[in-house]
Amino acid sequence: MRPELLFPIYTAVRSLPGVGPRLSMMIEKLVGPNLVDLCFHLPNGFIDRRYSPSIIDAVPGSVATIRIQVLEHHPPKVRRLPYRVSCTDDSGVIELVFFHARKDYLENILPVGQTRIISGKVEHFKGNVQMSHPDHIIKPSEFKDLLTVEPVYPLTAGLTARPLSKAIKNSIKMATPLPEWQDLAWLNKHKSPSWLEALQKVHTPENEDDLSPLAPARMRLAFDELLADQLALSIVRKTHRKKAGRAIKTDADLIEKAIAALPFKLTNSQTNSLNEILKDMAEPLRMLRLLQGDVGSGKTVVAFLAMLRAVEIGAQGALMAPTEVLARQHFKTISELAKSVGVNASILTGRDKGKNREKLLRGIADGEISILVGTHALFQKDVEFNDLALAVIDEQHRFGVHQRLMLTDKGEAADMLVMTATPIPRTLMLCAYSDLDSSRLTDKPSGRKSIETRALPNSRLEEVVTRLEASVNRDSKAFWVCPLVEESELIDIQAATDRYAYLNRRFPNRVGLVHGKMKGSEKDKVMSSFTSGDFDILVATTVIEVGVDIPEATIMVIEHAERFGLSQLHQLRGRVGRSERKSSCLLLYAPPLGEIARARLKILRETDDGFRIAEEDLRLRGAGEMLGTRQSGLPVYKVADITKHQELMMAARDDARLIIERDPALTSERGKALRILLYLFAKDSVVQTLRSG
Ligand code: ADP
Ligand code: MG
Repeated sequence: MRPELLFPIYTAVRSLPGVGPRLSMMIEKLVGPNLVDLCFHLPNGFIDRRYSPSIIDAVPGSVATIRIQVLEHHPPKVRRLPYRVSCTDDSGVIELVFFHARKDYLENILPVGQTRIISGKVEHFKGNVQMSHPDHIIKPSEFKDLLTVEPVYPLTAGLTARPLSKAIKNSIKMATPLPEWQDLAWLNKHKSPSWLEALQKVHTPENEDDLSPLAPARMRLAFDELLADQLALSIVRKTHRKKAGRAIKTDADLIEKAIAALPFKLTNSQTNSLNEILKDMAEPLRMLRLLQGDVGSGKTVVAFLAMLRAVEIGAQGALMAPTEVLARQHFKTISELAKSVGVNASILTGRDKGKNREKLLRGIADGEISILVGTHALFQKDVEFNDLALAVIDEQHRFGVHQRLMLTDKGEAADMLVMTATPIPRTLMLCAYSDLDSSRLTDKPSGRKSIETRALPNSRLEEVVTRLEASVNRDSKAFWVCPLVEESELIDIQAATDRYAYLNRRFPNRVGLVHGKMKGSEKDKVMSSFTSGDFDILVATTVIEVGVDIPEATIMVIEHAERFGLSQLHQLRGRVGRSERKSSCLLLYAPPLGEIARARLKILRETDDGFRIAEEDLRLRGAGEMLGTRQSGLPVYKVADITKHQELMMAARDDARLIIERDPALTSERGKALRILLYLFAKDSVVQTLRSG
């Protein structure tokens, strides 16, 4: 249960005064559902309103806060002209300028003859002093409150600065002092304020230094967040490992036989990774290992071979994929390989119902099924394994830490292998994924051709279509990807649908469409008819991002490539170049390209090394790209910045390990405070494992 101390900030945004349903919806979308989320929405700028000159002295271009008296209203004679209000102080006259103004509204806030305080940018225009759309117009009694440095917050479409600032201010007021969870020596060394002081300080920046990620108050909050994260990871790791693993060793030769039956030779890194995994499995501890490798680097094969080790000792292996399409694809690869060594493999997804499902469940429970592939359906309550020894999870960032554990709980001390096609930069690996050991597939299966990559402005679409025509007439297949942006899924699906219609006119009956709003069964149908050659061009939103394997596809067109993150573009490109044939990737972009987008496209043209791309992605994201972070599955922090706080990350990791070593149940004085920290950053489920463990 969440500690009472946190109740005031774990209160819904909509409970704030002046926050109605519309505003709360926008705030929730931008920051999250609770006041605590507003507390952690930090300013990215400030406006100094302490400059309070007389009208005649006000420096043009500066932000000034001035006490004025309202002289006269001048409504415009023509609608497109601005509404003007003349005001004065002892020194001169200032014109307030409003476009698209409402007369009654202005008469109400600027009554003739009254004194008001205005604040905004002063301009000189045709010899007059003016201020257009003052940021503030208030009564003289509130003058003092205005004479401060005002924080400026990142916004989202439709949300304006003032209501958001007010909501944040009110949220901070609800925050209470919390017991200190940080090490006092660390606090002293960094001259760190307490949690509450830091929170108040980050929201009242007075100069550029205060905005720096290295300012003491920001460092403090970032360290809190990182420590909470690291502590949660350490606890998960410890709980997981503590449940004694089993030493899986055998003289059986199923794996050797399977390797001999493969139609290809394993790459060096496949062999190395497999050995690392088998070594872990042989240890009496539970394995928790990450297998990283680009799309097509051969992870599934490695996972299959590892699952055979479980089968060799008469136990079972399971592989869980994030989507139905991927589960089916893994199953296709695995069932063929399994057949070659006479092992019984099956698939279970949410679509298996009734009799068929019961039959599958029986096969899983009595051990007749040795290898099971599936989706989330694998960890439903009624799925009981006879003896699950290895759980493989594909694309780990789509599953939370907690879900990972739920699958291994299906077995007696099951080992866990997590696979990801998003290579994780080393620095980040060390910290954010410190609960996992890692193996990397760095070399590509032989025979893969490099992919010719070009970036073109979208004005050259016709040219691309003409090239496409020549290629598909020579028996190639192509993907055509239209981006899906979270905020406007429907519009994007429309764009994909339009593109589909357009291409279908050019290539009658040779185009298919698949997008995220389609039902699983519909998607599968399209994908499988694409695979079986019913059509040649597949228009898709990013649903094809992970995993889909169609070796005949040799062309990848990506529209609005500038909207994708680097790792994501790399993954999309990895859909082609999976055969002996020459492949190409065409990145269409809408000019003008921003600096970061330009750098991304350049890197893609230069390399197809996923690990290098991941490092570059992280570096570029440091330049302030939020969108890519969420999409590439890297951890998203509210305060900490993975590119600026690497040292803090290391420190948090070391600190967390030490804490868990000394006070594993978090019962000491500091331990109790740390529990509050975990709740503060919503690691509730982790605290619960602590209690039950
Ligand atoms: P990933 O899961 O990493 O995307 P897969 O394991 O699905 O990659 O492998 C992609 C394709 O490459 C599959 O068709 C697989 O049979 C093939 N493959 C895997 N390893 C090798 C290898 N060492 N040599 C040649 N082809 C391979
Ligand atoms: Mg795969």
